[in-house]
Amino acid sequence: MTIIDCHGHYTTAPDQVKQYRKDQLLDLQAGRTSTKRVLAVTDEEIRVSIENAQLKMQRDRETDLTLFSPRALGMEHHFGDLAANVDWAQQCNDLVYRVTEIFPDNFVGVGQLPQVAGEAPGKAVLQEIDRCVNELGFVGINLNPDPSGGHWSDPPLWEKDWWYPVYEKMVEHDLPAMIHVSGSCNEHFHGTGAHYINGDTTAFVQFMTSNIFKDFPTLKFVIPHGGGAVPYHWGRYKGLAQDMGLPPLPELLLDNVFFDTCVYHQPGIDLLLKVVPVKNILFASEMVGAVRGIDPDSGHHYDDTKRYIEKVDFLSNGQKKQIFCENVFDVYPRLHKAKAACISNLK
Ligand SMILES: [Zn+2]
Repeated sequence: MTIIDCHGHYTTAPDQVKQYRKDQLLDLQAGRTSTKRVLAVTDEEIRVSIENAQLKMQRDRETDLTLFSPRALGMEHHFGDLAANVDWAQQCNDLVYRVTEIFPDNFVGVGQLPQVAGEAPGKAVLQEIDRCVNELGFVGINLNPDPSGGHWSDPPLWEKDWWYPVYEKMVEHDLPAMIHVSGSCNEHFHGTGAHYINGDTTAFVQFMTSNIFKDFPTLKFVIPHGGGAVPYHWGRYKGLAQDMGLPPLPELLLDNVFFDTCVYHQPGIDLLLKVVPVKNILFASEMVGAVRGIDPDSGHHYDDTKRYIEKVDFLSNGQKKQIFCENVFDVYPRLHKAKAACISNLK
């Protein structure tokens, strides 16, 4: 069975990539304009950084293709001005594009946006989406619902003047977005432990309490990390929707909102798969990502999520196939055009 992982980041990029961002921010701290520099990374460095990490894990775990985006913690929309963040997003997206060129059978690109805390996504964000689609062949984007990094000082996702231009562009390209925060600069919220899960849960509730999908019926979002707290608290959201006189959740949201399987233990995966309809679940592991260790109780990596799904005994093989490789094509229609060998084999 072909297995497509819809959530991976280039977390193992060579050190000079992080240094590039540091130099940008040092410029800004010193009151200088951040100048575009040359980010010197060789193809060989990219090859080594992938072969010993994401590609090795794909092979070990027998998965076929990863939808691959720049490192999420590195997006840092809460730092940098527009010019710096445009340059940074372009550099990061270009690197991911090179990964997809060097390993065309294993990785398809997903883009980072040059969002800036306190600024509505404008022309630069829309242009980078166009570039990701038209020039880099990417199939999705990561949209940060909180560019302020844990302070939530920008408007909620339903704010028309702020967010709707991005949604219009997504619809124009038939392009889904994964909701994905970056780092936290609020010390209350640990980045991957609290801020990520808050971001996922918050986006779901904002979708639930807004007219976004009435205004954009074909818009699609993936909520990562298993949907944050949502599946566990499905009854709460079902009840809140009912109290508010809203339609049932499946009618309200489930043509537009999808969940990945980045949940790192068996009971969590079981719950996700029991609560959320199979058609709304996409396989993902987020490797190499937030949790890199081995669970002493299972002897396997926490993020080896394929194992948990395989172990589930209440789903048919057909349903597992939907999760592993079929649903992703419904959510990421541009994937049909991707040149990965595993996709050609599917056709
Ligand atoms: Zn991620």
